[in-house]
Amino acid sequence: MTTHSTSAPITVAHGDGIGPEIMEATLSVLHAAGAALDIDTITIGESVYQAGNPAGVTPEALESIRRTGVFLKAPITTPQGGGFKSLNVTVRKTFGLYANVRPCVAYAPFVATKHPGMDVVIVRENEEDLYAGIEHRQTDEVVQCLKLISRQGCERVIRYAFEYATAYRRTKVTAFTKDNIMKMTDGLFHRVFDEVAADYPDIQAEHWIVDIGAAKLADTPEAFDVVVLPNLYGDILSDIAAQIAGSVGLAGSANIGERVAMFEAIHGSAPRRAGQDVANPSGLLLAAVQMLVHIRQADVASRVHNAWLRTIEDGIHTYDIYEPDTSTSKVGTTAFAASVIDRLGQEPTRLPATHYAQHRPITVKLAGRSAAAKTQLGVDVFVHSPDTTPDELAAKLRPFAAPLHLDMISNRGQKVWPGGAPETLLTDHWRCRFLDPRGTTTAAEVVALQARMVEHGIEPIKTEGLYAFDGEPAFTRGQGQ
Ligand code: NAD
Repeated sequence: MTTHSTSAPITVAHGDGIGPEIMEATLSVLHAAGAALDIDTITIGESVYQAGNPAGVTPEALESIRRTGVFLKAPITTPQGGGFKSLNVTVRKTFGLYANVRPCVAYAPFVATKHPGMDVVIVRENEEDLYAGIEHRQTDEVVQCLKLISRQGCERVIRYAFEYATAYRRTKVTAFTKDNIMKMTDGLFHRVFDEVAADYPDIQAEHWIVDIGAAKLADTPEAFDVVVLPNLYGDILSDIAAQIAGSVGLAGSANIGERVAMFEAIHGSAPRRAGQDVANPSGLLLAAVQMLVHIRQADVASRVHNAWLRTIEDGIHTYDIYEPDTSTSKVGTTAFAASVIDRLGQEPTRLPATHYAQHRPITVKLAGRSAAAKTQLGVDVFVHSPDTTPDELAAKLRPFAAPLHLDMISNRGQKVWPGGAPETLLTDHWRCRFLDPRGTTTAAEVVALQARMVEHGIEPIKTEGLYAFDGEPAFTRGQGQ
């Protein structure tokens, strides 16, 4: 057994509910396997919330995570009721944890699953997309949520997925987007995926439209290897992938940032099972295996993972995966950890053994970019206008539009003027598109246009500039399907 001469500083939180039991079990396996860890223990979760801290984590605890750069976290209980912020979101946002990495593996025939060959790693973008939390009610009838996607945000997570595939000797990376509809936001994710893929000629790259891709993933997960997704699709599909692998209670995940990474089980604190020594510590243990690879103790990671696989294969199971036909004994948390410790140094005989490569921590370098020449061609002004028709609204706007001219009006993205179908549902929320016949307009002219609207009793609720970048119009003209 190799011993690591320097201990890696890590921050550990024992959490709530079953958290302390599964963390103790996990740490006992790590220590027995020879992990060299310098542990700083912090308190997070229920007691911190109840002491009046709305984030469930103190500034001192965040400081520990910042110092060590590695956070092994047990699940916590989020108290019921308003006013409490998600601790995970706080940690994710504070430290810029941009990639959520979740291996979803089937352990057939030892753990029941419909997909015995499944071994998929979901890499979810963690910071952007519809999760920016920018939502507004704009009229009596309409609310909106902004979907923000940045080139750097895409490039970071996509490059991470390819670097991960390289480091973990995987052969294919698949992206899912809905760029046939969201041509600009999901289109950017797809375009950056193609650009980054070109830098990794040894890794197969493919793209699926998310609806059919998700159906294929649920039906034939064996066809996928590493899957990289924007935030919303990743949120949904990572849960589906874990569920169909049969491994919700066994899955760990990593949240990766530039300087900080957080490792945790995907399940919650299971309060009903707390204090009974029955919970399955496998999800947290496998998250700790991801952590060991991250802190360059790949040999210890392999030893722990193989001993765990052997334990599962030997039929030593906690209640949640116990089946009379495949299990040999039903054990509690402590006994399960002891069984893994007994098998350190052994490998599974039927499940594939794992041999992690010692590699440098995965880092991502973003390509530098120069700014494009930006010109404004016009403006979309959204207005709140109840009890009107498209023709009436156009008749009011056109006389004072100059020097711009009214190009079209849409309602919930459906063009209603000029033309339009009588069947279209009309709300009180209108998008009025003005273009400048001279080719370019100015911010001052857009402001003046809005002032004239107000004078004529029309309420602008927001504007979106219609820009060209390096001469290319950069806005959609029609609607999706
Ligand atoms: P849960 O994951 O805690 O439990 C769902 C079901 O799975 C329960 O039947 C539970 O007994 C079982 N289960 C979960 N983990 C298990 C394990 N390791 N061994 C055996 N059985 C296990 O989800 P929930 O009940 O919706 O949430 C409970 C609490 O956990 C809530 O306060 C929630 O906010 C919190 N939560 C925390 C995290 C986190 O800290 N990352 C994640 C999800 C939920």
